[in-house]
Amino acid sequence: MRFYILTLFPEMVTSALLTSIIGKAAKKGILEIEGVNIRDFTRDRHQKVDDYPYGGGAGMVMQAQPIYDAYCSVAEKIGRRPRTVYLTPQGKTFTQAKAKELACTEDLVFLCGHYEGVDERVLEEIVTDYVSIGDYVLTGGELAAMVMVDAIARMVPGVLTNEKSACTESFEGNLLEYPQYSRPVEWNGKRVPDVLLSGDHGKVELWRREQSILRTRQFRPDLLKNAELTLREKAVYGVNDGKI
Ligand code: SAM
Repeated sequence: MRFYILTLFPEMVTSALLTSIIGKAAKKGILEIEGVNIRDFTRDRHQKVDDYPYGGGAGMVMQAQPIYDAYCSVAEKIGRRPRTVYLTPQGKTFTQAKAKELACTEDLVFLCGHYEGVDERVLEEIVTDYVSIGDYVLTGGELAAMVMVDAIARMVPGVLTNEKSACTESFEGNLLEYPQYSRPVEWNGKRVPDVLLSGDHGKVELWRREQSILRTRQFRPDLLKNAELTLREKAVYGVNDGKI
């Protein structure tokens, strides 16, 4: 899988992403992350990439031409128009389901805005997905792109050393993950739950399932509406058509 991040700050995204687990996967050739500097494509002799908004108002707007040419350089390289995500607080909120969907794409372009945003005309021309990482406003799209690339990349086969861990993680089946413990058995007067020391895998599975449901009910009751629960579980945990 190849990620192309159109940005005014390529080092910011590549240096952060190319460390740790995602960086190791890139070294192994499982995925590629390329920061494309929008400023390299400006035709302005002062290297300008932004200008005042028509109609007045605060701030500057990123101009269409450098962004479009940066996008075209990627399209030419891969030989087709790629799926292109514009990071924007106005987009649909990013979810694990969206990460999974995008992980099936071979080439993915991310456009990071800055200042007051981006000239609407280039968005109409190149963007396939408008995505927000939450209901707040950042100064630029880079952090949002990093969040998305990290969440998508870890779903690419071979990136995680323990692929199984992704199957029990939070949001699988619309439930949060159960609590985790490691050594020592007792820390600060708190013991690891006995069931986890019992060696009985059946009981451990049942306990984890129960904890997942209880945790989801406590922290994210909104998820339970679409959680995959049996009729028995719905009855035991008082989940009724998403209302508890
Ligand atoms: N004026 C814009 C508005 O009110 O919708 C906000 C522009 S914001 C200051 C600059 C850039 O940061 C945006 O173009 C976008 O790329 C990025 N950005 C800000 N908040 C974001 C969010 N919640 N999710 C994704 N990207 C965001």
